[in-house]
Amino acid sequence: MTDALETGGGNDSYEALVAFLYRAPIGLAEITAVGTIEMLNPMAAQLLMPLAPDAELVNLFKVLESVAPQLHQMTLDFTAPTGVVCESLRIDLGAMVRGHEVEVLSISLMKLETGHLMVVLADATLEAAREQQKLLRRLRDAARTDTLTQMPNREAVREQLQGMIDSTQTGGSSAGGGCAVLFMNCDRFKQINDALGHATGDEVLGLMAERLRSTLRPGDRIGTPPGLNQMAARIGSDEFVVILGGMRRVDDMLAVSRRILDVLSAPYVTRMHRVNCSVSMGLVMMAQVGADADADAVLQDASIAMVEAKRAGGARYVVFDASMRERAAHQGAKEADLRRAMFEKELFVVYQPLVGLTLPGRIERSAGVEALVRWQHPHNGVVPPLEFISIAENCGLIGELGDFVLETACRDFMHWQATLGPHAPRLLAVNLSRAQLAQPGWLARVRVILQVTGIPVNCLQLEITESLAAQDEKVQLQLHELKALGIKLALDDFGTGYSSLACLHLLPVDTVKIDRSFVSQADTSHHHKLLIDATVKVAHSLGMNTVAEGIETHAQLEVVRELGCEKGQGYLLSRPLASEALMTWMLGDETLQADDDSIASRIPGTSSVD
Ligand code: C2E
Ligand code: CA
Ligand code: CA
Repeated sequence: MTDALETGGGNDSYEALVAFLYRAPIGLAEITAVGTIEMLNPMAAQLLMPLAPDAELVNLFKVLESVAPQLHQMTLDFTAPTGVVCESLRIDLGAMVRGHEVEVLSISLMKLETGHLMVVLADATLEAAREQQKLLRRLRDAARTDTLTQMPNREAVREQLQGMIDSTQTGGSSAGGGCAVLFMNCDRFKQINDALGHATGDEVLGLMAERLRSTLRPGDRIGTPPGLNQMAARIGSDEFVVILGGMRRVDDMLAVSRRILDVLSAPYVTRMHRVNCSVSMGLVMMAQVGADADADAVLQDASIAMVEAKRAGGARYVVFDASMRERAAHQGAKEADLRRAMFEKELFVVYQPLVGLTLPGRIERSAGVEALVRWQHPHNGVVPPLEFISIAENCGLIGELGDFVLETACRDFMHWQATLGPHAPRLLAVNLSRAQLAQPGWLARVRVILQVTGIPVNCLQLEITESLAAQDEKVQLQLHELKALGIKLALDDFGTGYSSLACLHLLPVDTVKIDRSFVSQADTSHHHKLLIDATVKVAHSLGMNTVAEGIETHAQLEVVRELGCEKGQGYLLSRPLASEALMTWMLGDETLQADDDSIASRIPGTSSVD
């Protein structure tokens, strides 16, 4: 000790210093270069004693050998005459001292001019525990954070929600009436990813997150008081949740929801593109949440309302009510039922004639047919496609369904050729759903079906809706590939979608099918007649031909014929028919009856399936 502390003044003050150091709440020792302990204060003795195997504190390196074997070598390696050999080196005493209160020791070694070493020892148990907790907290935060947007993730949302629910149930004040959960899903996000790439998709999500954050920032115009339980989180690939707290009135929550929808629907400018992306939002008012609900149930309800918003066309919010739950369950049951139906082969295909109208006073029966799918349900009778196509699209069955229709129709078509000869239909129209195009390998399967059925490609017409045709570049590319195969394309339901006459030239189609909503008023509304006229003229100028859909009366038939539609389709001409009935129909008379009844209903053997 003397060597180390000789800087002190006279003898008295030296003894005072020694006494002071002896009482210090820190372990102090002086050792030789090989570890022999020359001096030790009580605290150091207390810290080291549990480690000394035979209760003898003779050599520090020996005492610490089992927990810090490197100490001796470190000292040997330290060749400078003086200096710090190590500082606050943590020694985990671990199993050695089980039950002892000191679990982590901190040790510092300072080499003195004499070659001796000053040792400082401290109990670092608390400090280490605190650091560990900090680390755990950071890890836990990471587990509750979405890496792409740095927003809280689903786990964090569940925790926060559960907290709010618990506090309502125990009569707490901050949750309950003034809270809402907003569940958002981007509309058509997959197409952004598919068409513009995942990097752009990620960028859009990042920008969305930023907009959500700034919309919820306290003091923003949306009129929320600062703080209370607000949270914006990303809980799935293109799904966000906002928890709104501390709002007094339902109207305020609706106003905030509307504002969030507005904010998110503005175009996103990424590095490469300008992207439009709206969101569908489901809203749950916490005041309506049942006593037995948990966070997952609330999120589930909110997502059910979101699906309703999507079903209504997207870019809107829908407030959850309990009846939606039933509908969602019903939807799930329908999916399962459809899966079963596909397996049990309950689907079948019927055909509606597309008749030629170019000969005055006559209908040309062999112009073509459109294949329409039906479901022979064991309990519900024949189910129309509008009731199950969207289910098939949503649950991934559309690929299989579409392939089934295409293959069946191609086979039937070839059967008619063989049986009816010149009376057989010349064209086969098959409907194509958006979701089919998105399926990997779909085009290859079309090629296989063409090959195995042997249908001449130029006899096949695929019908796509306007919104599908007007889609992104990738869809356009696929449509061009279909055309390159020699397949004809028709634009279905023209007039009901987004694209207009002005855009018609952008679409790679051969035929425009004028929607029934126009045709049904062709004879009664001058406006609709004009629209049909304009459509036919523009189509012709682009080298496309036209089909009038849904002709139900002779008057309508004559108007569309007069306006120059090449083909017509509708109940007046024939309802959709099973293959056998169609063959009988094909052989019927080509003159038209004078009254407005459906011709098909009067032709024997043509029982309709519609
Ligand atoms: P779409 O392609 O526009 O088919 C015409 C629909 O109009 C058919 O209904 C047909 O029965 C009906 N229709 C024909 N003439 C008349 C008429 O004079 N009056 C009235 N009121 N309706 C008429 P359907 O068979 O119920 O099909 C509805 C829609 O389901 C189709 O509309 C098509 O978009 C879709 N669809 C049908 N089969 C398939 C399929 O195999 N695959 C896909 N992806 N979609 C299909
Ligand atoms: Ca169609
Ligand atoms: Ca149509």
